Amino acid sequence: MPRHDEITQLLARQGDAAEELRRAALRVKREIVGARVFLRGLIEFSNVCRCDCLYCGIRKSNAKVTRYTLDDDEILAGVQFAADHGYGAVVLQSGERNDDAFTDRVARLVEVIKHRFPALGVTLSCGEESIGVYRRWRAAGADRYLLRIESTNPVLFHKIHDTASRYELRKQALDDLRSAGFTVGSGVMIGIPGQTLDDLAHDLEFFRDMDLDMIGMGPYLAHGDTPMGQAHPDTGKEKCQRLELALNMIALTRLMLRDVNIAAATSLQAIAPLDGRQRGILAGANVIMPNVGETAHRKDYLLYDHKPGTDENADATRQSLEKSLREIGEEIAYFESGTPLHYTRRTTR
Ligand code: SAM
Repeated sequence: MPRHDEITQLLARQGDAAEELRRAALRVKREIVGARVFLRGLIEFSNVCRCDCLYCGIRKSNAKVTRYTLDDDEILAGVQFAADHGYGAVVLQSGERNDDAFTDRVARLVEVIKHRFPALGVTLSCGEESIGVYRRWRAAGADRYLLRIESTNPVLFHKIHDTASRYELRKQALDDLRSAGFTVGSGVMIGIPGQTLDDLAHDLEFFRDMDLDMIGMGPYLAHGDTPMGQAHPDTGKEKCQRLELALNMIALTRLMLRDVNIAAATSLQAIAPLDGRQRGILAGANVIMPNVGETAHRKDYLLYDHKPGTDENADATRQSLEKSLREIGEEIAYFESGTPLHYTRRTTR
């Protein structure tokens, strides 16, 4: 296991040295999880949010956002699409709400999905909740939960969130998810203004020490209607640097954690529309999350400017994804829910 200063140096790699790191990660990926990529159908079912994260386009204070919540039929149509097209799992993601109407509805939806599609993995990504709510959602049949820690530097965490968000609570929520029996995923944004390589090295050590099963992380990208996006608009050069850094983060995650699932995030594709996600796979990721939700509302779930994916349901897009993965020697693992090996191992130890 690399020491902290070695991790920092590896993260700083560029050019051929960075490619060498990513190739090493790809070898570990292929040895441990195979030359296979799992698809998860992402459904962004509501952009209503009680939080005011300074970086996020759907933050509570952004009055320019048209708020929406998909109805059951719209959500189930997305799930049906995913099931019909061999996606092994769905991810239901939303803004954060803690009221009973919301938490009850999520529990009921999970029950319906699991009843109709028993083989489909169900991942939730709905933010911080009480352990009671997590237990209920798990009992309803949800398998996995994604909750990014965003940054493990508490000072940076508090700088980019509103005062109601606390680093300690976010970490507690991850512990609660594990106690509730979920397959637990977390991650960070990469390239947050003020973030250092030392911070990112700590993030990698946090992933390892928390014994996480899944990692989902990607470059931070500015949204022009947020305080962070306005204070620090992205330059093209910064975006390219963040993409390279994100690929090094993926590679080091694979090398350090080995048997976890790692997502090639949509924000990689936002910076490199032609091959961002493929480059993520080549750096050691093994999951892609195409959007299968209602297209009419996609423009209202803009976390950052120029978020891609408006035509992701199109047959042509899926065929080109399959072709480009085949070109790099990877195949899509259709109809497999793709439980992370790490979760299977830690729960049968
Ligand atoms: N409410 C849930 C939560 O907070 O976990 C899920 C939705 S939240 C919008 C999903 C993720 O979007 C966050 O964890 C954050 O990392 C990412 N995100 C938000 N704004 C972003 C930005 N400007 N650039 C990159 N990622 C962003």
